[in-house]
Amino acid sequence: MIFGVPPLKQLVWFRSDLRVEDNPALVAACGGGSVEACFFAADAQWAAHHEGPRKTAFVRRTVKALAHELAALGIKLHVLQVPRFSDAPAAMVKLLQETGAVQLHFNAEYPLDEVKRDRAVWRAVKAIGRGCVRHEGSVILPPGRVLTAAAKPFTVFTPFRRKWFGVVTDTDLQTLDKPKPVAAPLDPALMCWDESAEREGAAAWPAGERVAYQQLRNFAAGRLAGYAGNRDFPAIEGTSRLSPYLAIGAISPRRCLDAAKALAPEASEAWVNEILWREFYRHVIALHPHVSKGESFHQHYDRLQWETNPAALDAWKSGLTGYPLVDAAMRQLTSTGWMHNRLRMVAAMFLTKHLLIHWREGERFFMEQLVDADFASNNGGWQWSASTGTDAVPYFRIFNPTTQGQRFDPKGVFTRLHVPELASVLDRFLFEPWKTGLTLNYPPPIVDHVFARQRAIQRFRGFNPDRPD
Ligand SMILES: Cc1cc2nc3c(=O)[nH]c(=O)nc-3n(C[C@H](O)[C@H](O)[C@H](O)COP(=O)(O)OP(=O)(O)OC[C@H]3O[C@@H](n4cnc5c(N)ncnc54)[C@H](O)[C@@H]3O)c2cc1C
Repeated sequence: MIFGVPPLKQLVWFRSDLRVEDNPALVAACGGGSVEACFFAADAQWAAHHEGPRKTAFVRRTVKALAHELAALGIKLHVLQVPRFSDAPAAMVKLLQETGAVQLHFNAEYPLDEVKRDRAVWRAVKAIGRGCVRHEGSVILPPGRVLTAAAKPFTVFTPFRRKWFGVVTDTDLQTLDKPKPVAAPLDPALMCWDESAEREGAAAWPAGERVAYQQLRNFAAGRLAGYAGNRDFPAIEGTSRLSPYLAIGAISPRRCLDAAKALAPEASEAWVNEILWREFYRHVIALHPHVSKGESFHQHYDRLQWETNPAALDAWKSGLTGYPLVDAAMRQLTSTGWMHNRLRMVAAMFLTKHLLIHWREGERFFMEQLVDADFASNNGGWQWSASTGTDAVPYFRIFNPTTQGQRFDPKGVFTRLHVPELASVLDRFLFEPWKTGLTLNYPPPIVDHVFARQRAIQRFRGFNPDRPD
């Protein structure tokens, strides 16, 4: 601050970066002068994006934790009800005028609706003569920094990953500390949300960046060592379960990288790979806007004929397909709001290949149910499973839900937990209970695997240039 000149107030707009550590927009705003912050609760827009109550309650609880962190730094957080993205420009102009802030800072989001909202806000802010600065805080390297030799975006993960490591090595990566207080601590009692809405999932998913860091440290110092061997087995707590925190930015991917390198340098490769999948899918949606419009990444697949089968879709959603691993997965999703990664692939491939139901139906149901609902990773995962996306699994490699169960839940510990009707079925029949000859309170398979596999291969074959002869 120049002596005698009143500091110019800065405003930080929090969205999916709900943390004070390693937050470029916050750090830039705290470079001098006083600071205020805002968060827009966009209920109607979240509903239009199919974000369900688990995710939105988790966001609300995290914003509350953020308000406390900011208050300790002397920063007031304004939580405003701004139902639709189209309401954001007017709300932001009003807030800038009320607070007297001269400059707005935010970290980029990449889905198309968010990009359009930010452009509209940027124009509105400039129109009243205030500054507006966009930072990069949700990825380690921003979209556009990792390109092919022909300066094109990568469409396949492995070369992306290789290039990513090359670029990172030449980049001075800085994980940013929490800024120093800009004023005396404030009273954080600012929030006016309905408390009952916030309670959902509070025990399973405690909110806030402190919780996220603790979980990261515990994982990196413990389970990370066995991650590569354990990550595919849903009965083992082998993964970090950080996805809800990463999805809304309660923790940054750079912090994850730092912790993995510091605490388990030898073992971290497989886990860092997964962090890079998250990064890859963010680059994909930023650089291929058609993906945000519900279109297939490979657009010729939009002509593929999908089946309309409400009864089968309902059976899938309810965990009553007659395939125990698929049903256990779907029941884990609907009862807890989270699903193990291998099971997400199994369940998604079952819907899109065995039932030939459009991946958009599954994408939407996952968005509604998941506490870690994240457009980029969810869309990427669905299109991977449906073979319509980047790096997609070849259409003729179709997971067999029976052998997947035998391989990844060999003792049936996970499956029996979620499908108690099969508790007494012997291990060797668990994933094909129709072979027991017993009358079980469990449905027969809704589709035959061999038939479904052949039907899917035939349906996809005409669309795939690399089809096997
Ligand atoms: C059909 C389908 C839908 C999915 N939907 C989502 C979603 O909505 N939100 C979401 O965060 N992830 C999604 N994933 C990716 C993955 O399943 C979850 O990120 C992972 O299971 C979360 O568990 P974890 O935090 O214990 O992961 P860990 O194995 O500990 O991995 C660490 C972090 O890396 C990221 N990550 C891991 N695997 C992937 C992946 N395959 N793609 C992208 N990022 C990954 C996540 O941020 C995760 O927290 C989806 C995958 C599929 C196949």
